[in-house]
Amino acid sequence: MTVTKAPFGTMPDGREVFEFTLENNNGMKVSVLSLGATLRCIILPDKNGNEQDILLGFDTVADYLEKSSYQGAAVGPCANRIGNGMFEIDGQTFEVIKNEADKNGNAVTCLHAGGEFSFEVWQSIITDSDSVEFFYTSPDGLNGFPGEMKVQITYKLGQNNDLHITYKAISNRKTPINLTNHAYFNLAGYANGDILSHILQLNCSQITPVDELSIPTGALMTVDGTAFDFREAKAIGKDICCDEEQLKLTGGYDHNFVIDGADGTLRKCAYAYSENSGIAMHVYTTMPGVQFYAGNFLKGEAGKAGIPMQHRSGFCLETQYYPDSPNKPTFPNCIFAAGEEFAAETVYTFETLSE
Ligand code: BGC
Repeated sequence: MTVTKAPFGTMPDGREVFEFTLENNNGMKVSVLSLGATLRCIILPDKNGNEQDILLGFDTVADYLEKSSYQGAAVGPCANRIGNGMFEIDGQTFEVIKNEADKNGNAVTCLHAGGEFSFEVWQSIITDSDSVEFFYTSPDGLNGFPGEMKVQITYKLGQNNDLHITYKAISNRKTPINLTNHAYFNLAGYANGDILSHILQLNCSQITPVDELSIPTGALMTVDGTAFDFREAKAIGKDICCDEEQLKLTGGYDHNFVIDGADGTLRKCAYAYSENSGIAMHVYTTMPGVQFYAGNFLKGEAGKAGIPMQHRSGFCLETQYYPDSPNKPTFPNCIFAAGEEFAAETVYTFETLSE
């Protein structure tokens, strides 16, 4: 196992951004930037022995700052959407940034807390031969979120091609905490077409259906008999164009799936596989939900090596509390008291199958 640190570029104000590369004895490589604690590359051999980088992303700091739709980034302090950019804690109303507009161009919802965690430079330290830790302190009141929050994210690569992301956060005021990683995977390799033929299996019997602003209605919907039923593995593209209201509202899969049996311990929520590369991924998490987003909003922006990130050329599995949890008392609670620790872990395990 090795970990190396190299300069990646500089921020507009001159601060340096570093890239850390973890490599295990099987030749699997994972690189992470101190900008947004961003997972930039996951490199594995495919079934023909060729190296594939299975993450969408960019080659420069400027691209990450200007073109990113959160490729690989850490997201927080409250990932996903908050309806009306507003929530209440103990009778006090908090208005947070509304960085998403409705179809009339009015700013209405808060998405990914305005990008606060994703576009900042994090402190970083190599802690072991297999891990790197990132630290960030989110100022009280930034983008409207209460509390100064101290956050730590650790990336650790194991010899079984297992990548562990652990999250810890503590705030000095009562506040929502929902941290995730926004990697866009293409298990065939980032340059190798769309993800519609990828096989996906989700251990999820329900989703949280949404309204036209992608805010959960508060209900839980069974996946039984719908395009959302991934309990048996099927191609992502099989039903993505079905004439179902939930798919039409979001232009393809972009929904929180409720993880069956979630109880705060690590459990398997997803499996994905590309027949083209033979690369398979298993996802485990301690969180209660996972946003399956099929890259519906990618529009051909130039990514790594200038290759356009076409519509649905990557998919995300964002482990999380359900969207709009601060406004949904029946959803698992994401409000943490002052001094109470948020702790979560998500593990991605990879294997290359020969046929
Ligand atoms: C959301 C998508 C959004 C993407 C990039 C995902 O978490 O569900 O709707 O386009 O993030 O911001």
